[in-house]
Amino acid sequence: MQQGTDAAGQRIAGAARTPTGMLVGGEWRESREGARFPVLDPATGEVIATVADAGVEDAADAMDAAAAAFPRWSAASPRRRAALLHDVFTAVHDRAEEFAALVTLEMGKPLAESRAEVAYAADFLRWYSEEAVRLTGTFRTAPGGAARHLTLNRPVGPCLLVTPWNFPLAMITRKVAPALAAGCTVVLKPAEETPLSALLLARVMAEAGLPAGVVNVLSTSRPGPLVEAVLGDRRIRKLSFTGSTEVGRRLLALAAPGVLRTSMELGGNAPFVVFDDADVDAAVEGAVAAKLRNGGQSCVAANRFIVADSVAPRFVGGLAERLRAQVVGPGDDPRSTLGPLISQAQRDRAAGLVDDAVAHGAEPVVHYGEGAAGPGDAFLRPVLLDRVPPSAEIARKEIFGPAAAVYRFSTEEEGLALANDTRSGLVGYVYTRDLDRAVRAIEALECGMVGVNRGHVSDASAPFGGVKESGLGREGGEIGVQEYLETRYASIAAPA
Ligand code: NAD
Repeated sequence: MQQGTDAAGQRIAGAARTPTGMLVGGEWRESREGARFPVLDPATGEVIATVADAGVEDAADAMDAAAAAFPRWSAASPRRRAALLHDVFTAVHDRAEEFAALVTLEMGKPLAESRAEVAYAADFLRWYSEEAVRLTGTFRTAPGGAARHLTLNRPVGPCLLVTPWNFPLAMITRKVAPALAAGCTVVLKPAEETPLSALLLARVMAEAGLPAGVVNVLSTSRPGPLVEAVLGDRRIRKLSFTGSTEVGRRLLALAAPGVLRTSMELGGNAPFVVFDDADVDAAVEGAVAAKLRNGGQSCVAANRFIVADSVAPRFVGGLAERLRAQVVGPGDDPRSTLGPLISQAQRDRAAGLVDDAVAHGAEPVVHYGEGAAGPGDAFLRPVLLDRVPPSAEIARKEIFGPAAAVYRFSTEEEGLALANDTRSGLVGYVYTRDLDRAVRAIEALECGMVGVNRGHVSDASAPFGGVKESGLGREGGEIGVQEYLETRYASIAAPA
């Protein structure tokens, strides 16, 4: 097997084991043009590896491979698909440290968070290995008695999976595991910032015995033309995308001519509502998790802290203390609690939102300019802004950085209305000790997910996804595999 490692690749922990070619039809190879592109360490800006740069011809090869593998894979027994997924789960679990080091190296988050991501990513493999043998249909007598209705599930066909950089491994297993459980084959296009975790996963899958062509991985620095080419291929039947709403909208348009099934996990603008009866200490704890996980670069990051007037001083004081205590530094330094953002551009974008809010009158309680500067360009120290005016850009945009923006309210209705004042609808968090109020909030919030007295909702066994401009479809849980299945119905004449 050709692996295309390069000298720079040696910097990777256990480096030699990470492939830097692309996987097409079971073969590791270079792109047809022979092009490569660099992968950078966000903590230093250094090149850590170069990887194959797939173009549209490679996309056609991957499509050929996924289409050729589909008949056999979709006909494989559920038990066989389950066993393979379980073997991949075991392998990822056994190699968790290697995966975690790689996630930190290419994405920047602290090692402890990378370990948590790897465990979360592995959970999808385990969950869908369990679901693979539980795909059921129905049988019923037609009400008139003249027929029998049989419904069964069929895999949709070859799928294109497009994933973001913020969770380089989990966003992939959350799609690949249900796709494979359903009997689909896939072309995976990981984010250009973080292709290495995807390639290592591909290696692990191949070593576990996954048949050639079932999973094809194309790293590319030119996602636009490549994705357009695959979506234009008549053999593709499904697009599953996780990324920004802006790109998602564009891909939905490209999926329209082929009338493709689509799953879209897009951006969020999560409200985090602290009511006047909340356990404020617990709310601060939840806020730290919901804000700082992944350095704030998460679609479910709390974007707007909507806090009742009467508890706002305690909440803001408690959160400020916790934000000031963060240790900003490289992800592989065990003292770091907050790593770099993915790039200097992302850091500047987040800092710009903070500056705009302050210019609009927000009160900076903790500012990124405080204390020692971070060790490099992509680092941003935590920020806490109080009394942010709704006219500031930060109220509408995903911050994607460690900046907390607080908005105050007085009545429950006002708090919930503020929470819903967004075109996004991924997750909302509410803190209250009143069960009736919690139920009212769960029902009123225009979100796909609600965290009640907790700042964390992700779980492989639960349906993750959004409403409004945050997306279509769900990942995880029993429902996640349905995204890769079509319902077929047969009408059978009643027996004579
Ligand atoms: P992005 O939209 O820029 O990129 C996502 C993917 O799309 C990458 O693989 C990228 O290469 C590809 N892409 C970019 N431009 C493209 C184009 N013109 N044509 C085809 N493909 C293209 O998003 P990002 O910056 O990588 O990720 C951050 C975004 O992802 C945030 O908005 C975040 O909220 C969202 N996200 C959502 C979820 C969710 O489950 N809802 C999870 C994680 C991230």
